[in-house]
Amino acid sequence: MIDFTEIDSDGEIWELFSRDLLQELGFYVEHSVDRGPDGKKDLIVSELLNGNLGKYKFKWLVSCKHFANRQSSNSVKESDEPNILERVQSFNCDGFIGLYSTVPSSGLNTRLTQLKENGNLKDYRVFDYKLIENYLLRIGYANLLMRYFPNSYKKVKPLHLITGKYIPLNCKVCDLDILQEMFKNQYAANYVQIYEYVDQKEHIKDVYWACKGQCDDKIRFNLSKGLHSNWQDIGDIVIPTKFLEWTLATMNQIESGHFYYNKKAFKKEKEFIIAISQKVMREMTQEKKDRIGKFREIGI
Ligand SMILES: [Zn+2]
Repeated sequence: MIDFTEIDSDGEIWELFSRDLLQELGFYVEHSVDRGPDGKKDLIVSELLNGNLGKYKFKWLVSCKHFANRQSSNSVKESDEPNILERVQSFNCDGFIGLYSTVPSSGLNTRLTQLKENGNLKDYRVFDYKLIENYLLRIGYANLLMRYFPNSYKKVKPLHLITGKYIPLNCKVCDLDILQEMFKNQYAANYVQIYEYVDQKEHIKDVYWACKGQCDDKIRFNLSKGLHSNWQDIGDIVIPTKFLEWTLATMNQIESGHFYYNKKAFKKEKEFIIAISQKVMREMTQEKKDRIGKFREIGI
């Protein structure tokens, strides 16, 4: 989903990206250190760990390797990470982090496991491309994605915070977060209005959202007598033009008197609009966020 070759191969930008990612993840970036004759740098980051009696600092040596642009055999091998233990020890670090735009070779994995098992290295972590991708697709990381992977950002359409906190769109039946699920399958869920005809008008009594198939069928095929349903594919509603059309059509129906809602359904429809806005709208720049002041709850 994310094209790591968007970052050029000389490695400097990858180091900056690694630093920013670790910072977003809550590590404190201490400084960077020269790795040796290749002119590349390792990072030193730290975090506070909670022990039984107090907090203590754990220092990590971070090796950033960007091999995504290599044509073949682009895994990070043991020979690409010489003297791991010496590097960790010489900067008084406790653990080792490999931050790679590809994957570690099985040889390197074995080497790291051995160092830990022998007690030479307290701990190690590898952030491979898949794990990094998982982080970048989470809510709150869109800025980083936009800055370092602008083309992927356009394709992925990550979720954006519109209010102070992320609002999930949970399936009414199984509770799965439909917004997260849409990264795998955009067309996985429906938005449904339940209505009855009163004086030839549609009285909307309830609205809900649910996964297509089993979840949605469970509700829609068991409606009480006299109740009907309108449904829309959420995968379509989140397409910007469609979003606007759908919102305006609803307003027109209300204005014409053909639709009317009970209070609960109307409130839920507004909640739905806010939740999918996190998918439809674009990321705000810091300047825009500053302009509207702090993120706030949106009154409905
Ligand atoms: Zn479901």
